[in-house]
Amino acid sequence: MSTEHSVVIGAGMAGLLTAAVIGATGRAVTVLEQDQDQDQGQGQDQDQGQGQGPGKGQVQGVPMPRGGVPQGRQPHVLLHQGLSAIEELLPGLRGELIAAGGVPLDTGDLAWLGERGWAPFGTPAFELVSASRPLVEYLVRRRVAELPGVELRDGARVRGLSRTANGTGPGTGTAAGGRWLVECFDASPVGADLVVDASGRSSRLPDWLGPLGIEQPATTVVDAGFGYAGRVYAAPPDHLGHVAGIVMLPVPGAPAGGVALPVEGGRWLVAAVGAENHRPPRDPAGFDAFLSGLRDPALADFTRRAHALGDITVHRRTHNVRRRYDRLPHWPDGLLVMGDALCAFNPVYGQGITVAATQALLLRQALATGTRPGWERRLIRRLHRAADLPWAIATGEDLRHIGDDAPVSALDTLFGRWSGEVDRLAAHGNLRAQRALDRVYHLVGSPAGLLHPALLAAAVRGRLLGLPAPAPRPPLATSR
Ligand SMILES: Cc1cc2nc3c(=O)[nH]c(=O)nc-3n(C[C@H](O)[C@H](O)[C@H](O)COP(=O)(O)OP(=O)(O)OC[C@H]3O[C@@H](n4cnc5c(N)ncnc54)[C@H](O)[C@@H]3O)c2cc1C
Repeated sequence: MSTEHSVVIGAGMAGLLTAAVIGATGRAVTVLEQDQDQDQGQGQDQDQGQGQGPGKGQVQGVPMPRGGVPQGRQPHVLLHQGLSAIEELLPGLRGELIAAGGVPLDTGDLAWLGERGWAPFGTPAFELVSASRPLVEYLVRRRVAELPGVELRDGARVRGLSRTANGTGPGTGTAAGGRWLVECFDASPVGADLVVDASGRSSRLPDWLGPLGIEQPATTVVDAGFGYAGRVYAAPPDHLGHVAGIVMLPVPGAPAGGVALPVEGGRWLVAAVGAENHRPPRDPAGFDAFLSGLRDPALADFTRRAHALGDITVHRRTHNVRRRYDRLPHWPDGLLVMGDALCAFNPVYGQGITVAATQALLLRQALATGTRPGWERRLIRRLHRAADLPWAIATGEDLRHIGDDAPVSALDTLFGRWSGEVDRLAAHGNLRAQRALDRVYHLVGSPAGLLHPALLAAAVRGRLLGLPAPAPRPPLATSR
């Protein structure tokens, strides 16, 4: 193959993990990132002063959110499957996260309020390491920067692509043949044999490809109108005793919820989440009132007993968007799309980094097994397949929030009803049901696991004889 030099656009999680894969093969790769000076370990923070050390809610030595990734201020759950995939790509990263203050926890110790009640509490399930998004990104970036052949170039905002005979001369005006030239607003253009767009959900790739004769991809958007409001609190990791964190899902009929998760630096990230008219406000009194109005007072109790650091930040770009490059009749060689640029999910379900890491593993496999002509197109199909299940989970739930009664197949309807049945069993203390749901949620297993005969038997028994008592409320310090 001829990928002597690769360019990755965007140094978010997808871009960095892509660079990790390409760099590990010994190939030269340049990552072009629009944000400035990421190597300081203190990203830029437009609201809290640039380059002036930690702002409010930040701790000395802990990376700060940056302008190009505004979602970095909100809690990010790295699903179990994502943690495993990143560990496979960058062995030892889990340990580095913990050494830097990331909090290891078991999902069985989370107080988890789902649609039908509390999930069974206190039975070991999946390991997570809870850390802020900037810390995860900072540690991944540090590892990627150490790879020979990897150059991380900040302050390079890409504005377009062209194809040239040799990567420097005038553009050929088509997407076929020659080398790519990646043009930047404020930096010199860079020639490349392989270009990977990892510029996130606002990717401009369709606009860049239009002048080269590539059609716009069919794009599906599902927007349930979710908004986040997040605040940082100071409290020790055992602030909730045996409870490792709180997750209250927004559910149809009660589309408001929130999370509280411990992260590095003796802090907790608390987010309130709600759809459309239930979106949380950014003023402190409104934020507190929002938490008090949730289905359970656990989050309001938490914030009342913790010390708030800094302002509330909001984020409202949460739509699901999928660009079907795999369905275009023509796809140029030497071009890939990864992460949110290909398929972005409503973040309420915590899937984006996990999907990006899974896609990076697929890229690694493709580069290892040889790159025969057309490999890019075949890989893009596989990258989409990696997004199929998380897309079905996120859009399936969001369409329920929207109240969309668009016809779905009889099989989907049946499966949706059955998932609800398994959820009901879990809310009544059935650990097998909870485990099966967890496996799907953490993208560890396929939904086929929900069809276990023991679950069918439990559901029939429940219908005939009644279900056991609901799972009790986890041992949270204060309760109604
Ligand atoms: C509020 C919120 C909460 C989230 N919570 C979770 C969670 O709990 N768990 C989870 O797994 N995921 C979560 N996500 C999703 C997660 O952030 C992303 O899916 C994941 O990080 C992969 O993103 P990415 O690297 O593809 O894109 P991004 O993280 O958006 O990175 C894109 C990068 O490209 C750069 N860039 C953009 N345009 C250009 C350009 N023209 N030239 C150069 N550089 C450019 C940007 O500056 C940025 O650095 C959340 C997202 C949001 C919005």
